Amino acid sequence: MDFSYTSRQRELMDTAREAYTRKLEPLIGDGGVEEHYKVRRAMAEQGLLGLNMPTELGGVGLPLLDTLLVIQTLHACSPVCGGLAHRTSTGACGAIEAYGTREQREKYIRGICAGELGISIGITEPGAGSAATDMKTRAEIVGDEVIINGSKQFVSSVDTNDYTVLYCRFGKTGRSSDIGAVIVPHDAPGFSRSNGTVNMADDLLFELYFDDCRVPTSNILLDGSAFGKLISVYNAERLGSVSRMLGAAQAAYEYALAYSQERRQFNREICDFQGIQWMLAEMRIKLDAAQLLTYRAASTAEATGLPEALETSIAKVFTANAAKEICDDAIQILGANGYTKEYPLAHRYAEVRGGSIYGGTVQIHKNMIAKRILDRNISQWKKD
Ligand SMILES: Cc1cc2nc3c(=O)[nH]c(=O)nc-3n(C[C@H](O)[C@H](O)[C@H](O)COP(=O)(O)OP(=O)(O)OC[C@H]3O[C@@H](n4cnc5c(N)ncnc54)[C@H](O)[C@@H]3O)c2cc1C
Repeated sequence: MDFSYTSRQRELMDTAREAYTRKLEPLIGDGGVEEHYKVRRAMAEQGLLGLNMPTELGGVGLPLLDTLLVIQTLHACSPVCGGLAHRTSTGACGAIEAYGTREQREKYIRGICAGELGISIGITEPGAGSAATDMKTRAEIVGDEVIINGSKQFVSSVDTNDYTVLYCRFGKTGRSSDIGAVIVPHDAPGFSRSNGTVNMADDLLFELYFDDCRVPTSNILLDGSAFGKLISVYNAERLGSVSRMLGAAQAAYEYALAYSQERRQFNREICDFQGIQWMLAEMRIKLDAAQLLTYRAASTAEATGLPEALETSIAKVFTANAAKEICDDAIQILGANGYTKEYPLAHRYAEVRGGSIYGGTVQIHKNMIAKRILDRNISQWKKD
C-alpha cells in the first residue's frame, strides 16, 4: 500500500494545471454555447478529453485513478473544464466504450475525444428519480427503426451535446430486465427538449420529450437486461463526479487558507485565531480523507476496469458531505465576502451541493452500503 502520488501522476496534474493556465483560462468568459465549444476543442488539442478512453479510439488511455486526479485538478481550476474532462471520460462514453458495437465506438468515442461531439445521459423521469427502474420511457423495434415514447428530466448539458444515451424500456414486463439503452441524436424526428431550468450552480438541466421519436436500430446500445450492466459502468461516472466535488472543495480550501493569512482583524491576521485554525485543520482532514476514500474506490478498478460498488458509494457519501462542509467553512472564513458572488466560494458551495443529489442521492447510496454490509436483499418497494 503506497499513499503517495507517483512521479507520473504528479506530472499529469502539473501538465493539466499548466495547460489550463496557458490555453484554457484565456478562453473562459461569461459562458455560452460558443465559448463551451472553443474550450472543448482546446481541451482536445491539449489531450484533456477522453482521459479514460482507449488510445486506439483517440483517448488518453489513463487508468481510472489517474483520470480522476486530472479531473480533480482541472475542476479546481474551472468547473467548465472539470465538467468536460469528466463527461468525456466516463458516463455515456463509458457505456458506449463498454457495450457499443465497433462502429458505435469508432464514431462516438473518437468524436468525443476529438472535441467534435458530446453525449448526455438520460435516466431520470418525472415519476422515476431515485426509483430509476420505475422508468416508463419505452422503445419498440419496428423493422430497422426504434420508436421511442416518453420523457426525461434534469438531464445535463443537452444544449451543448449532440446525442443522449437514453435509458429506456424495451420489454413490457415492468421489471428492470426490460431496461436497455439507445443513442438518440438531438435532431432525430420526434425528439424535442425544454429550454432548460437553471440550477443553483447556474447550469441548465433539461427535459427531453420523445414523441414517436425514430432512430435506426443501429443506434441501440443494449436492448434489454442491461440495467445492472449500465450501472456497473456508471460507477466510474460517479467517481468522476466525486472528483469534481474534490476539485471544488480543494479550490475552496486553498482560497480560504490564503485569505486567512492576508485578512487582518484586531491588528493581526485572522489565521492567528484558534477558531480559524481549527476550521482550516478540519477542512484539510476532510479533504484528505475524502481523497483517500476516492483513490481506494478507483484502485478497485485495476482488476476489472470497473470500480467496486461498495467502495464507490462510501467515497460518494463521504465526499458529498465533506465537500459541503469544506465549502461552508471556507465561506465562513471569508465572512461577508464569502457570501457574495464577487468571490468564488458561493459558486463552489452551489457546485458541491448538487453532489448529494445527482448520481444517486446520499440516502440511496447509504441504502446500497447497508445492503452490502448486512448482505441482505433489502427492497425499498412498498408491497401492495
Ligand atoms: C446537478 C444535477 C445534474 C443531474 N444530471 C442528470 C443527468 O444528466 N441525467 C439524468 O438522468 N439525471 C440527472 N440528474 C437527476 C438526478 O439523477 C436525480 O435528481 C436523482 O436521481 C434523484 O431523483 P429526484 O430528484 O427525483 O429525487 P427523489 O427520488 O424524488 O428523492 C427525493 C428525496 O427522497 C429521498 N429518497 C427517495 N427514495 C429513498 C429511499 N428509498 N430511501 C431513502 N431516501 C429516499 C432522496 O434521497 C431525496 O432526498 C441530475 C440532478 C442534478 C441535481
